[in-house]
Amino acid sequence: MNGFNFYEKFSKNFREHPYLTRTLIVCAVSGGGGGLVAYSEGNLLSGSKVDKLPEAGKPKKKVVVLGTGWAGISFLKNLKNPSYDVQVISPRNYFAFTPLLPSVTVGTVEARSVVEPVRNIVKKKENINFWEAECFKIDAENKKVYCRSVTNEKEEFVVDYDYLVVAMGARVNTFNTPGVEENCLYLKEVEDAKKIRRAVIDCFEKASLPNMSDEERKRILQFVVVGGGPTGVEFAAELHDFVSEDLVKLYPSVKDLVKISLLEATDHILNMFDKRITTFAEEKFHRDGIDLKTGSMVVKVTDKEISTKEIKTGNTSTIPYGLAVWSTGIATRPVVTDFMKQVGQANRRVLATDEWLRVEGTNSIYALGDCATINQRKVMEDISSIFKKADQDNSGTLTVKEAQAALKDICARYPQVELYLKTKNLKSFVDLLKQSKGDVKESSEFNIEEFKSALSQVDSQMKNLPATAQVAAQQGTYLADCFNRMDECEKKPEGPLRFRESGRHRFRPFRYKHLGQFAPLGGEQTAAQLPGDWISIGHSAQWLWYSVYASKQVSWRTRSLVVSDWMRRFIFGRDSSQI
Ligand code: FAD
Ligand code: MG
Repeated sequence: MNGFNFYEKFSKNFREHPYLTRTLIVCAVSGGGGGLVAYSEGNLLSGSKVDKLPEAGKPKKKVVVLGTGWAGISFLKNLKNPSYDVQVISPRNYFAFTPLLPSVTVGTVEARSVVEPVRNIVKKKENINFWEAECFKIDAENKKVYCRSVTNEKEEFVVDYDYLVVAMGARVNTFNTPGVEENCLYLKEVEDAKKIRRAVIDCFEKASLPNMSDEERKRILQFVVVGGGPTGVEFAAELHDFVSEDLVKLYPSVKDLVKISLLEATDHILNMFDKRITTFAEEKFHRDGIDLKTGSMVVKVTDKEISTKEIKTGNTSTIPYGLAVWSTGIATRPVVTDFMKQVGQANRRVLATDEWLRVEGTNSIYALGDCATINQRKVMEDISSIFKKADQDNSGTLTVKEAQAALKDICARYPQVELYLKTKNLKSFVDLLKQSKGDVKESSEFNIEEFKSALSQVDSQMKNLPATAQVAAQQGTYLADCFNRMDECEKKPEGPLRFRESGRHRFRPFRYKHLGQFAPLGGEQTAAQLPGDWISIGHSAQWLWYSVYASKQVSWRTRSLVVSDWMRRFIFGRDSSQI
């Protein structure tokens, strides 16, 4: 009885005081696992001030959030202002830590270790309600969203909003390739990863059955990964590790028949990484016996064969396969496409927002994460307005002093200017003007044409942000900060000058801070590309990967599950049970 009481008290204390769990994990991990304690939540907000509470009786503004992925959850976690009535709608009642999904496909990490229930995340925030449903229509004109329950399709309901936050992510892009939908597996959701895990084991069990020709066994054990981006590459590497470290011992009779192929349409895999990483990855895959087919586009998939076309020669060939995983990119969800038509974005491919993440053509709808892209304004489109604002004495010319004074606002509004100065190693605006006009003195003045020519190249620095968790999470944090201080910034705008209108913008525009990226390549080796072009490849980068991914978990519960999964795998290997 005493023991039971002790257990109950112990467990209650841990649940009520999460810092105890935190301390325990840090102690356990720092004792056993070397450098794993590099914990940083990466909070990019300068200050997390919150507006004062509204007067009693004043109706709360209704905020509807669509989606509980990286963008939606990061928004909810950082929304501290209790004066909003928040309704969260998503067909998934959990958040999934997608960067670990490739590990889930082979059981390096269990599926439940990478998810956290939404209700757990928001349980302390009384103003947030969650509905497990899918939004099937956004009515921007009447400020309503139409939803359908996931568990009962006949159950439909309508929710009103004052502000809408669209964070629905994207769907898999098959590029309308025939047969992909029917025959390939995807790697996008937790369910997909679980399906792949079962299918891989299925292939091994099937190929081990008696009375089967060697040719048929070979076909069943031919694994094809389509897409040489980070997800496809990581999956191929995980699969190779699973086969070579665990399955060869369990299926010795068929081990020599296994083949893993990776198909990529462009000339190289991991195109978004530094050349050194691409080369290392290609060579490592070659050494590991992973068959890399670059410049090869999939044109058709049947239940047993994949047809490919070589881009350079146009030659077609077929590969018999047992399991194919399609991982070639993302496309807009139909509900977002329909919404884009309503707001005058019918001819765009992706939903466009301004730099404050507000959907273009609306004033109370925000979109973040994979479902949207920031349509950054070009300096050249606004050059006359910029010149006029900077010319404080209305003389029709800019002095060096006037140009210098406007620089801070120009850089805040048009980040490409700062990037341009950085890439050209220019310290200030004067240097930029000097570069275009020649010798410039303090007393020099510029007319609009000279100003234009100095800035003519800056727009070349504009880039679309990648569709990554890093971008989505930072956007969620940014938007929550804006919502936290909506009243304060309405009264005291802190954004840059409005060059085309009067006054200042309420908020600073969203700025992405790239913290680096990883490409795990299997065999306890990872490639890391960190800010400042710092490249690290090998076992040390793998430890960095472990430590960053442990630290980035959304809760201490999942953090402890993931770390213990890794330890279990080190000690016992991966589990190959068919469940
Ligand atoms: P998601 O995280 O996809 O969330 C979308 C949410 O919207 C989900 O909750 C979904 O259920 C919900 N939803 C869908 N339809 C509806 C609807 N009709 N109504 C309401 N809600 C809806 N990025 C990195 O930075 N690093 C990595 O290592 C990395 N690895 C990855 C590995 C894999 C296997 C995958 C698939 C992605 C990886 N990414 C990585 C990319 C990253 O996961 C995405 O960029 C990120 O998830 C985008 O966040 P999001 O919130 O926009 O969308
Ligand atoms: Mg002047």
